[in-house]
Amino acid sequence: MSFFGDLIDFLLPERCAGCGGEPVLLCGGCAAALSGPARPARPAPAGLPPPWTVAAYDGPIQKIFSAYKEHGRTALAVPLGEALARAVDAAVPEARERGTPGGPGPPPGGSAAPRGETPVVWVPSRRGAARRRGHDPMRRAVAVAVRRLRAGGVPVVAVDGLRQCRRVADQAGLGATARRANLHGALEAVPRAGLAGRRVVLVDDVVTTGASLAEAARALRAAGAEVAAAATVAATPLRRAW
Ligand SMILES: [Zn+2]
Repeated sequence: MSFFGDLIDFLLPERCAGCGGEPVLLCGGCAAALSGPARPARPAPAGLPPPWTVAAYDGPIQKIFSAYKEHGRTALAVPLGEALARAVDAAVPEARERGTPGGPGPPPGGSAAPRGETPVVWVPSRRGAARRRGHDPMRRAVAVAVRRLRAGGVPVVAVDGLRQCRRVADQAGLGATARRANLHGALEAVPRAGLAGRRVVLVDDVVTTGASLAEAARALRAAGAEVAAAATVAATPLRRAW
């Protein structure tokens, strides 16, 4: 975005983040693109079940993500989080675990998810991205999704369970093999999240080649967790990325 582009954005009333049409957060047509039922994205990333997803990552959806992540339209966390909630809701039955009555609780001082609640763990942003953007888009969207699901009686809990342990290059423009190499070993589980032995739903904003989800799943497995299901807001259409 150029200086003049930023200036024009600042001076004009905000318009639909998807199409730039009506002076609303999202017009009816662009909101509808996020309102479909959850479906499995195919093919599945290596070592993972097919992620449940809601939207095709093209046209207005790409613009909505860009407005949300890079241009500070944080109110989009609500429609994006609600779309993610539908994908997670579809994924939860694959991941459900039973509570352990009388069993050991979370470690003292830890932030582990209570037994009987399915941990929802998101793929973290690249280092420094949240600072540069001024917000952490996935954390915010996951919070909306989990709040919505819990209000509907679905026992899920957001767990900040992954972190980057080394720098990686921007994935944009890399092919599938280069993406895997760029990401391998880049993530690790947060020990105090207490995910060992847990069945988790892994979430991300978009699945493209699946390299990010596969690396996140590897890191969670290395910490003793089982990635039982995955969910994303959007998936890159098959013909373009797989
Ligand atoms: Zn629109």
